[in-house]
Amino acid sequence: MKLYLKPGKEKSILHYHPWVFKNSIQRMEENPEKGDIVEVLDFHGNFLAKGYYHPSSQIAIRILEWSKPINIDEHWWAEKIGQALERRKNLSERFQTNALRYVFGEADFLPGLIVDQYGEFLVLQALTAGIERVKPLVSEILMSLCKPKGIYERGDADVRALEGLPIQNGTLAGENPPDEIEISENGKSFLVNVKEGQKTGFFLDQRENRRIVSEYTSGKDVLDCFCYTGGFSIYALKAGANSVVSVDSSRSALDFLEKNKKINHLSESSHQSVEADAFQILRNYRDQGSKFDVIVIDPPKFAPTKASLDKALRAYKDINLLAMKLLNPEGILASFSCSGGATLEDFKKVIGWAGKDAKKEVQIIRVLSQAEDHPVRVSYPESEYLKGLVCRVR
Ligand code: SAH
Repeated sequence: MKLYLKPGKEKSILHYHPWVFKNSIQRMEENPEKGDIVEVLDFHGNFLAKGYYHPSSQIAIRILEWSKPINIDEHWWAEKIGQALERRKNLSERFQTNALRYVFGEADFLPGLIVDQYGEFLVLQALTAGIERVKPLVSEILMSLCKPKGIYERGDADVRALEGLPIQNGTLAGENPPDEIEISENGKSFLVNVKEGQKTGFFLDQRENRRIVSEYTSGKDVLDCFCYTGGFSIYALKAGANSVVSVDSSRSALDFLEKNKKINHLSESSHQSVEADAFQILRNYRDQGSKFDVIVIDPPKFAPTKASLDKALRAYKDINLLAMKLLNPEGILASFSCSGGATLEDFKKVIGWAGKDAKKEVQIIRVLSQAEDHPVRVSYPESEYLKGLVCRVR
């Protein structure tokens, strides 16, 4: 099936961007259906690429292949998935982990497909109708290449609605995973609930950042805000923090944190879990005069898109301003933004505003990004989303 673009709209494809917007299409020879493979041609009829189609999504085509003679068949899918696995071959060893993102969608040349490993199980997310259609084939390929005990589908990501896909969680192949899977990472252990946890169960993208931030925590009083199941907290305790306070609004996340403390043989005395709204509790700490040496701020996405940017930047500023006021002199603020809509420059600006209003001098001492199994594909800037700044505040 052939699809012709309006004049000039071929540019982004020639630069290997994997999306074609609906309004770039001039005409179609037939009426392709959801998930059909189409050939994309420029206005003059020159071949550009092949991809899968969606009739009503704003992103009408996601490009899979730039070479005309190659067919998008089961061999193609097996090869592309195999290559994504191959690229991660030494990561388990380097990060002492059995939990990795195996496939990171567009950034791994497999638009709409997410595959995460949690020990002997895989978790799959089909974010588009194109992937929904090949889900059985993809599961079969993963079973044969990775030999997991089972593959569990997390079909509850918001973006599925944009493609007209229902919420759908359940086992796709092999065994049903247990409610708690124990994973290890850089010598630490974590229990993960892949069925109900956030995202696919764990924030794998912060793996390296947890290790880096823990380097500042030995002997220190640490506050871990938006702690989820205690990623940064467990690392800090293991690194010999004097005390750690972990704040999250989710009771179930904190229950997992408590279990994670146990399986890492950490003592109760130096740690406290607090179920609260982070904005509120930071104000309370400010009013009480509480102080910390290291504060981690790792909030959920405030700006999923560019449109929500202004409001989000204000929220980032507020939370970082509050955190800065709670730091002892020369304290460390490790602050993150996982908003795709905000750039590193935006985020630096926010930290600048917060410093100014808090009347603090701020030095950025480390600039952090997403873990290596979440690559940034340069032709697809949308794949860069996680930004972190380790700052010294005086
Ligand atoms: N740092 C964590 C990941 C944090 S994800 C790790 O390394 O694993 C963001 C967390 O923020 C989620 O656990 C969510 O429950 C929590 N959260 C969202 N809004 C919140 C709020 N207003 N106050 C406190 N926690 C909040």
